[in-house]
Amino acid sequence: MGSKSKKYVYFFGGGKADGNESMKNLLGGKGANLAEMAGHPKLRLPVPPGFTITTEVCNYYYDNGKKYPKELKEQVNVALSKVEKIMGKKFGDSANPLLVSVRSGARKSMPGMMETVLNVGLTEKTIEGLIKQTGNERFVYDAYRRLIMMYSDVVMEKAEGIEPKGGKGIRKMLDEKLEAVKHSKGYRLDTDLTAEDLKSLVVEFKKTVKEVLGKPFPDNAEEQMMGGVGAVFASWNGKRAVEYRRIEKIPDEWGTAVTVQTMVFGNMGDDCATGVAFSRNPGNGENQFYGEYLVNAQGEDVVAGIRTPGPINDYSKNDQSKTLPTLSKIMPNIYKELDSIKTRLENHYKDMQDIEFTIEKGKLFMLQCRVGKRNGVAAVRMAVDMYKDKFITADMAIMRVAPNQLVELLLPMIDPKAELATPPIAKGLPAGPGGAVGRAVFTSNDAVAWAARGEKVILVREETSPEDVDGMHKAQAILTCKGGMTSHAALVARGWGKCCIVGCADIEVGSDLKSFETKKGVTIKEGDWISLNGTKGIVFQGKLPLVDVDVEHNKSYTELMKLVDKARTLKVRTNSDTPKDAAQAIKFGAEGIGLFRTEHMFYGEGSDKPLFLLRKMIMSKNLDERRKALDELFPYVKSDIKATVEAMKGYPVTIRLLDPPLHEFVPHSADKLEALAKELGVDMAELNKRAEGLRENNPMLGHRGVRLGITYPEITEMQVRAILEAAAELIKEGKKAVPEIMIPVTCAKTELDNQKAIVEKVDKEVRAKFGLKKLPYMFGTMIEIPRAALLAAKMAETAEFFSFGTNDLTQMSFGFSRDDIGSFLPDYLNSKILPADPFQTIDQDGVGELMRYGIEKGRATRKDLKVGICGEHGGDSESVKFCHRIGMNYVSCSPFRVPIARLAAAQAALEGKKKK
Ligand code: ADP
Ligand code: MG
Ligand code: MG
Repeated sequence: MGSKSKKYVYFFGGGKADGNESMKNLLGGKGANLAEMAGHPKLRLPVPPGFTITTEVCNYYYDNGKKYPKELKEQVNVALSKVEKIMGKKFGDSANPLLVSVRSGARKSMPGMMETVLNVGLTEKTIEGLIKQTGNERFVYDAYRRLIMMYSDVVMEKAEGIEPKGGKGIRKMLDEKLEAVKHSKGYRLDTDLTAEDLKSLVVEFKKTVKEVLGKPFPDNAEEQMMGGVGAVFASWNGKRAVEYRRIEKIPDEWGTAVTVQTMVFGNMGDDCATGVAFSRNPGNGENQFYGEYLVNAQGEDVVAGIRTPGPINDYSKNDQSKTLPTLSKIMPNIYKELDSIKTRLENHYKDMQDIEFTIEKGKLFMLQCRVGKRNGVAAVRMAVDMYKDKFITADMAIMRVAPNQLVELLLPMIDPKAELATPPIAKGLPAGPGGAVGRAVFTSNDAVAWAARGEKVILVREETSPEDVDGMHKAQAILTCKGGMTSHAALVARGWGKCCIVGCADIEVGSDLKSFETKKGVTIKEGDWISLNGTKGIVFQGKLPLVDVDVEHNKSYTELMKLVDKARTLKVRTNSDTPKDAAQAIKFGAEGIGLFRTEHMFYGEGSDKPLFLLRKMIMSKNLDERRKALDELFPYVKSDIKATVEAMKGYPVTIRLLDPPLHEFVPHSADKLEALAKELGVDMAELNKRAEGLRENNPMLGHRGVRLGITYPEITEMQVRAILEAAAELIKEGKKAVPEIMIPVTCAKTELDNQKAIVEKVDKEVRAKFGLKKLPYMFGTMIEIPRAALLAAKMAETAEFFSFGTNDLTQMSFGFSRDDIGSFLPDYLNSKILPADPFQTIDQDGVGELMRYGIEKGRATRKDLKVGICGEHGGDSESVKFCHRIGMNYVSCSPFRVPIARLAAAQAALEGKKKK
């Protein structure tokens, strides 16, 4: 080996290690942590010695027609002889043989995705030596049969890309042979098999392997080891691993490392065991050692469910294991050692650890440690506990919790235990998280009617439209067959924090709207109970129990959010249209309303009268008629706005003037049309003619937003008067009011000037009427048309604030109709043409660039221009971070996303601090 040649192999053992924890990219998570545990002066834990072959070898292997770098063999030999020296054994030796495991390990753990082979090095030659050394024939043949099972499966079948005939792989076949022996002898457990049983089983196994795979099981230690190494590399490109990487967005180039490690045996008898544990409870975050173990077992037995594992201590007991002896009871000294190691590991890594251990003849060995996965509730609790114990800093605590994990704290969910015990009947897209149970209904009207009787219902629809909003609101949850994550149902549900599954193609709603059928043939009729897990998109039959999560009483959450609010500079507002939502949002920490949509008052509960008046206004023929209708509508609009502004207790409220195209409000039902005709004193023919006149080919790009206010200034005038009078009344009542008037769908400064003139006129009149010198309001615009962003310098001459309407801005920048992306966006994502759905997370390259440019130019004109975002993106953590980086003043999102945005904003601030 030349001195300049690259290092491909990293040794660990005997209190030393070439690598360490920081080398995950090279050694994989498992290899890096084994090196750390074995070699760090503060740890030097009992880790069986071994070596790790780097991820670079994996990449070399794939780049060079599945060949290894020429230095590899020599480096492996050097490392192996170091191991042999420490162990006083030799690999492949007939007298005192060393056995090893060949383990996979990528940078990020990919649970169950890649392969591991145990007991490598057992051959006809070494078996006898091992029996002599251990005096335990049964153990040796048990290890051997395991080796054949794992090796033939992983190395000889999977790595060779052999598709098992009839879908039954070699492992399954061998398993069946083992079961057959147990059955014929009347054994219940694997541990009942005798040495003789295993001996003849091994012969049969080898025969089967040769028959099925056409090659003998290799009887050479070195061949076994290198076969194992190749198989681990091959498993990196196995179908399962590739799919997993797609989902988890793990780059293919990372590659996997391979660790070859001295075997220690948990299967040598009753003074042996193997187990897994967490340094704290990963389910609720309690600072309690939590784990399971099995006596006389090896490797995956604990998780494979062959025998029920025992609890390591009383705390870890569950329903199945409560009668089993604990490790702390049967091996008290080992338990104590394990407990102290877990504490040392936690202290060292400053985080909860997931550990694997094996006990060989009364001696404890550590086989793995890594930062443990945890759910949202546990993540928050651990972060805060560790901060309070001065274990980690406030900044670290804030970074410990993924913003989306907070969702789990905010919504009720299906009891996880019940969920495990119930097979799902269908799967769709997880559009609104949390859990819900209810009786299936199939129309909005039914949902309203049933709910009025006090029934809990789940509204099942092909897809939803604004007309379904009432029923959607009354339902516990919404389930649709069609539509994507940005469909109407998904958007509405997210806004309310309601459980929702969309695009559930596994179900078909009957044409009579009385039942649905699943692909598996389950029929759910109207009134039948179903349960939804909206976090995962799973549908269950029946009524599963829900567990409530009450975030305000969650002390850890409250403490964490205090730290969060101290750390962030970006403000967080909410998109709310009602006093109820506003109050909820304040509880979640909202600091204002970033989007109040005036049109909401024409949908849903209590909207009959105002909607009727709006329709009357829309159908008016001339200015006089329209003014009359507007005058009638005015008090409704005013009281609606006043109630919400009042609920915000002096926080700013951005009120958007009427946005949708008017035709959207024209009634469809005959009786509604007739009532309207009567009110207006015209016949149906005339009314239909007027409605027809409002129809547009492309309403989203038609007569809407500011364009309504330009053709019908009286509509703007009425709304502005409602806003300013509501504010004036509140001020007169001694309350605070901070309205911000926002003009939607603008693309020119002149549009703003036109509308500003109306606002100024009304302002004067209202001040005169109320005897006020000044009304505290601002005038601004949405930026949702690319032209408006490009002309931001101009727009800011008139606008005092910008609010980026990123739903429309995305739609118009891409030219993607957001109601129609379902038919092509999945292809774009699958073919990696786009990295993510731009309606969910801001397209930073394109739309984001428009935003950055708009802010820069806007502030060049008006230094104190207030800038926010009010699209759905305001609740997406990556997008929130982006908004922080481009210097926005606030983000606005639906009430239930407010805590998530607060946390994301704090993390963005800390990430910025670190960079500097
Ligand atoms: P995974 O990444 O799937 O967890 P591992 O490489 O951790 O795979 O191996 C699975 C199990 O095999 C380990 O939890 C451990 O019980 C067992 N194992 C692996 N290497 C050894 C070894 N050298 N000695 C004893 N058991 C081992
Ligand atoms: Mg493992
Ligand atoms: Mg818009």
